[in-house]
Amino acid sequence: MEQNILDCVIVGSGPSGFTAAIYAARADLKPELYTGLEPGGQLTTTTEVDNFPGYPAGITGPEMMMDLQKQAERFDTKVHYELITKAEFSHEIGGVHKLYAGNKEIFAKTVIISTGATAKYLGLDDEKKYAGGGVSACATCDGFFYKGKDVVVVGAGDTAAEEATYLAKLCRKVTMLVRKDVFRASKAMIHRVENTPNIEVKFHHELIGIEGANNLVEKAVMINNQTQEKSTVDVEGIFIAIGHKPNTDVFVGQVDLDENGYIITEKGSTKTNLPGVFAAGDVQDHIYRQAITAAGSGCMAAMDAEKYLAELE
Ligand SMILES: Cc1cc2nc3c(=O)[nH]c(=O)nc-3n(C[C@H](O)[C@H](O)[C@H](O)COP(=O)(O)OP(=O)(O)OC[C@H]3O[C@@H](n4cnc5c(N)ncnc54)[C@H](O)[C@@H]3O)c2cc1C
Repeated sequence: MEQNILDCVIVGSGPSGFTAAIYAARADLKPELYTGLEPGGQLTTTTEVDNFPGYPAGITGPEMMMDLQKQAERFDTKVHYELITKAEFSHEIGGVHKLYAGNKEIFAKTVIISTGATAKYLGLDDEKKYAGGGVSACATCDGFFYKGKDVVVVGAGDTAAEEATYLAKLCRKVTMLVRKDVFRASKAMIHRVENTPNIEVKFHHELIGIEGANNLVEKAVMINNQTQEKSTVDVEGIFIAIGHKPNTDVFVGQVDLDENGYIITEKGSTKTNLPGVFAAGDVQDHIYRQAITAAGSGCMAAMDAEKYLAELE
């Protein structure tokens, strides 16, 4: 049977995937997009998105992602509600890349990987109960909602230190819960935390529960893991800053990843180490992690794919 070789396959349906689809479709690459298990991506798990340009009154995450999908489909992007389970990438310029969705084989001249990253949580039932009601994994996204209020940040690494210092500018008081007796953050970040008067660091403390009313956070419940003493602190927001996991398991051994599993792209482009394979969004960005930056790099990936195909001719 003759192989149907597509010009462009996009893996992932977050802001980067759908933006790549809009640009690829308008460049006549007839993209086919695989949504994975979370159609619409991370933003479908949040309520208000207040910082995406073009929505003066804000918009909910699910609505915004439906708008992006509709825009991609307006230009005939074919959307498959399937998960890519395996990849076999070519190392040749002009080679054909192979993807699998279960038993289904997909052949493509270019692949845009936009599988995002997943914020890590502690695994407490209360985190789910109060998601959208005070529990967040992104200070840049949600810090504004806690202006003048008290919040907790959980974590000891650079992300936690950055989130705490960012929130300290907006919030009345930030309490940081650090499991051990030391930070894992860089010296520079520790210095910034220590020199911010409205951050209180509680070493040897772990978050063990959340109390509230009407699904809104009112108290963080913590334990001192040295003395086993339990206590609470009155807060309206709890930021879990214990890291992210890039969704790259299916690409291990196929494309170059950094030590944390993020796809490595060439500086200033979305090119990976393989010709015709591009990466966009949070899967290759552990710094900015915003919808707008993901969308921006999705646009870049489609343009890089289009240029690559044009150069093959
Ligand atoms: C609770 C929350 C609130 C946030 N609020 C904001 C905000 O207010 N403003 C803001 O700018 N940012 C916000 N962010 C961050 C923002 O959501 C991300 O930066 C953005 O979604 C990243 O987009 P992405 O396209 O890289 O990937 P994601 O949105 O992570 O999407 C990844 C996609 O890849 C798919 N996928 C994964 N593996 C596979 C596979 N094997 N096969 C096929 N598909 C696959 C998934 O199903 C998903 O569709 C928030 C994040 C969270 C978690």
